Amino acid sequence: MEITKHLFLNLSILIILLLFCLIWLDRSRKFNISKTAIIIIFILLLWICLQFSYSPVPFARYDLRIIPIVIGGLYLGIGLILVAVMLIIRLFYGFDSGLIGTLLLYVPLAIAFFRLSPWFWKQSSDRRISIAICLGIILGILTTGAEFINYTGNPWFDVLFAYLVIPPLGIGLIAYSIEYIKKSVELNHQLIKVEKLKAVEQMGAAISHEIRNPLTAASGFVQLLNDEYLPRHKRKEYLSIVKEELNSAERVIQDYLTFAKPSLVSIEELNVKNELKQIISILTPIANQNSVEIITDFSVIGFIKGDRQRFRQCFINILKNAVEAMPNGGQLYIETHFSQDYVTICIRDTGIGMTSEQLERLGEPYYSTKGKNGTGLGMMVVYSIVRAMNGFIRVESEIETGTTFYIKFPTITSLKKK
Ligand code: ADP
Ligand code: MG
Repeated sequence: MEITKHLFLNLSILIILLLFCLIWLDRSRKFNISKTAIIIIFILLLWICLQFSYSPVPFARYDLRIIPIVIGGLYLGIGLILVAVMLIIRLFYGFDSGLIGTLLLYVPLAIAFFRLSPWFWKQSSDRRISIAICLGIILGILTTGAEFINYTGNPWFDVLFAYLVIPPLGIGLIAYSIEYIKKSVELNHQLIKVEKLKAVEQMGAAISHEIRNPLTAASGFVQLLNDEYLPRHKRKEYLSIVKEELNSAERVIQDYLTFAKPSLVSIEELNVKNELKQIISILTPIANQNSVEIITDFSVIGFIKGDRQRFRQCFINILKNAVEAMPNGGQLYIETHFSQDYVTICIRDTGIGMTSEQLERLGEPYYSTKGKNGTGLGMMVVYSIVRAMNGFIRVESEIETGTTFYIKFPTITSLKKK
């Protein structure tokens, strides 16, 4: 069983290499390697097959070169190159009757591959695997036929098993793996496409919904303004409502723009402590309404660079969420810490908290647990502003205990160093 033993060793080497290739492909997360790289890999495989071949007599070599040639020829259309390279490598092992046999078998095969590959790709996945296996069997039969003419004295059972079972088995295994990977990559692409479409759809629906409401209201009041006998004070009131509604539509657009392209309009030095104090004074009435106690602890210094308006928008969103997370009151801690490179702002509430799934979805557009009271845009805007200001966000949360946001911004001194 010498041939069988050798071919099994050959097959294991091929499968181990295939496994490495798969892991490498999976890690690099893309399925498009250059054709040159593929050709080099296949030439390497061919060389390995010939190197580990079993050669009981000088003119005959038993190996699995069929596998890379069939797979490369059918799947990649590189049969011609592989056969040429194989013949060159084989030449190095000696010019003998075995080489002549090889020439007779593989040159017509290379020409056949040339015509076969485009047709092959039109078949279904299952049929492709069957075709590859059939080709392996046919080549196995032809090789045993050559053995019949050029008998080397090996037991027939060994020859038949080695050529009729092992190569088709190897080809089948590899073809199946290729089809499997191909399918899963395609599925992944489809999924990404669907997700993208869904996002666009949601965006469109939300924009039209949120802008249409204020616009409908505004146009209603404009119609009322048409009335010539409308008292002056009413006219004034309606105009201010129209203005308010238009402003609200503008705010929605602003939110989307901030998310899509968080440009920092005017960059200036911000004193974190003073900014936060102002934001807190804006939010105190809402906090009082919810019986939320605000407790602050600010480090003495802390300057960062950023857009004041955006900075406010960011922290108003975070603090509003914190207050909303404590409908029955609680404590809201706002602290800042200062180090050489970063100013860290820490916002902790004693509210309802989030589950790990909720935490994972935080910042996703339209992700809200507040039903019609929420837009699910607040955190999305927060993330994009912090990113635009070169900052980082870390969130810890425990259900029924509370949530802590750590927002880190580079200090002015660290920015200057760069
Ligand atoms: P919205 O406030 O309109 O729901 P956000 O983007 O501001 O949208 O917040 C998304 C979701 O994140 C909220 O619905 C809420 O479930 C969760 N969340 C945000 N901040 C907190 C917090 N401090 N405590 C608990 N849940 C929070
Ligand atoms: Mg919110």
